[in-house]
Parts: sequence; C-alpha cells; structure tokens
Amino acid sequence: MRVMKDPAEVGEYVGMLRRNRITCGFVPTMGALHAGHAALIERSVQENDRTVVSVYVNPLQFGAGEDLATYPRTLDADVALCAELHADVVFAPSVKAMQPPGRVTVVTVRGVSDDFEGAQRAGHFDGVATIVARLFNVVRPDRAYFGQKDYQQTVVVRRMVADLAFPLDVVVCPIVRDPDGLALSSRNRYLSPEERVVALRLPRALESAEMLVLAGECDGAAIRAHMAAKLTPADSSDAPDSADAVERDGIDADVEYAEIVDPMTLTPIERLTGHAVLLAVLRVGTTRLLDNRIVAPPGTPAWER
Ligand code: AMP
Repeated sequence: MRVMKDPAEVGEYVGMLRRNRITCGFVPTMGALHAGHAALIERSVQENDRTVVSVYVNPLQFGAGEDLATYPRTLDADVALCAELHADVVFAPSVKAMQPPGRVTVVTVRGVSDDFEGAQRAGHFDGVATIVARLFNVVRPDRAYFGQKDYQQTVVVRRMVADLAFPLDVVVCPIVRDPDGLALSSRNRYLSPEERVVALRLPRALESAEMLVLAGECDGAAIRAHMAAKLTPADSSDAPDSADAVERDGIDADVEYAEIVDPMTLTPIERLTGHAVLLAVLRVGTTRLLDNRIVAPPGTPAWER
C-alpha cells in the first residue's frame, strides 16, 4: 500500500488505472479511522480492483468555534488499518494542496444543504461539497463510498454528483454501531463515561420511534413528539438507573433537532406513506452526536436507493 500526499501523484496513479480499465473505489474520510470507516473500505475493496482512501481534516467544513484544532489526527494508525484492509492508496494531502492559492470557487448545493446540519453549522456543506468535488476530480473514482451515519451529507453529495455529472456511482453504507447501539464516530472519544450513558438516549429514541412506526403510527407530529420525549431528561423511563444518576449530577444534554423527513428532499413529513428518515442530533456536554434511522410503515416495499 502506498501513502501519497501530492495530488499529482494520485493523478498519475489513477491515470494508469484508467488506461488499463482497472476500476477504482474511493473512500473520503477525515481520518481517526474506526470500524465505521473500515466497513466503507471493506465494501470498496470488495467491489473495485483498487481502493483509494483519503485522510483529510477539511478546514472548510468546520465552523468558527468548532473542534478543527483538536480533531483527532492519527495518520500512522489510519495507514496501518488501511493496509490491513487491503486498500491500495492512502491519499493524505496538505491543506495547501486542497486549497490552492487564490481559490475562489465554492460548490453550493442549495435546498438540501439548508436545514439540519446546514442550519446548525454555517458553511458546513459548502465546505464538504467544495472539497469532495476537488477530491473526485483528483481521484476520478468509479465508485465513492459514504456512510449513512451522515445522512444529510449523502443527500448533498448525491445531488452534487447528479447536478455536475460526475461520472461515478455514490454508494451509501449502513451505520456501524457499538454493541450498546451508539453510532461509531471519531468524536465519541470526547465523551466521558457518564456522558456516554446519556448519549445512548439518541439511538434508543430512534429505535423506539421506529417501533412506533411499525406499530402503525403515521402522524409526523406524533412521531416527532415521541422522539423529543425519549431524548429529553424528563423521560428516562427506558434508560438505565445510572443515566438518571448522571443527570442529577448535571450532565448537560440538549436536543438540537429530532425530525422525520422525506429521504430525498429532507422536508418534514406530516403523514407517513412510504420511507422516511428520522434525523436527530443530541449534544451531550460539548459533543454533538448525530444519528438517523430509515423507517417505513409496515408492508412498505423495500427501498432501492
Ligand atoms: P468522517 O471521517 O467523519 O468524515 O467520515 C468519513 C465517512 O465515514 C463518511 O462517509 C461517514 O458517513 C462515514 N462514517 C462515519 N461513521 C460511520 C459509522 N458509524 N458507520 C458508517 N459510516 C460511518
């Protein structure tokens, strides 16, 4: 496996692949790789002749006051994991290589970028789309792999790929969770053990809302209210005793949003008639935790994305 820092070197490598009709899968990441990233890399290795993993902490997608400076950077361990998983290239460019001097072009995906993460984190999706577009042009993959974990990001990237005619397929992989249900995230390491107990409210609330949907509830407002109740400290009936204890000890948890939305447009759903996505963010202490779940009323045919 090779580690490349220079986009020109990656360009040369993928040029060779293209000339020889060797397929290339691409997994963009910000590093600090965990089993969620590993699942994307494994899928790419299965489906393509070669796999390129990018490790780039993208300053453009961090807002003022976010954790850019402290975001975990573990390149040596990331390279070792990629080698173990049989990836072929780790592309770890510098900020200078990704933001050329004089850069003025910004990719804005309107509409689907506006709410949720877009509303909470000004400029976030412009930063994502601008850098993902640049990475796509450097790596020129046949397939690019993204996690359902960042659901809105998958919608934004698919829209950009369709609108700008990038010649590649976007593949979205399921969320990988810890055994207790918490979705894996590089930011979970910021949680204290007490905060982690409170964090479990998030997957549990979404699972509980799915149960409600499967029991026949189709009213968007009722599903929203159910999630809100499960996420707020007043309703800790299904949380273990220890969770009650830490709340009394003052763990600060705040629901930024808990919505049920259309899977393609991300507009709120009033009446559920097919597939929908439960989207939620719980901030525990200073850590923002994202989660989502795709739901549908009983008997809905499988969804082809
Ligand atoms: P990040 O390094 O956070 O930018 O994530 C890189 C890619 O890994 C994104 O497409 C994420 O959605 C995906 N990812 C992160 N966490 C998970 C997870 N728990 N399960 C599946 N994919 C994930």
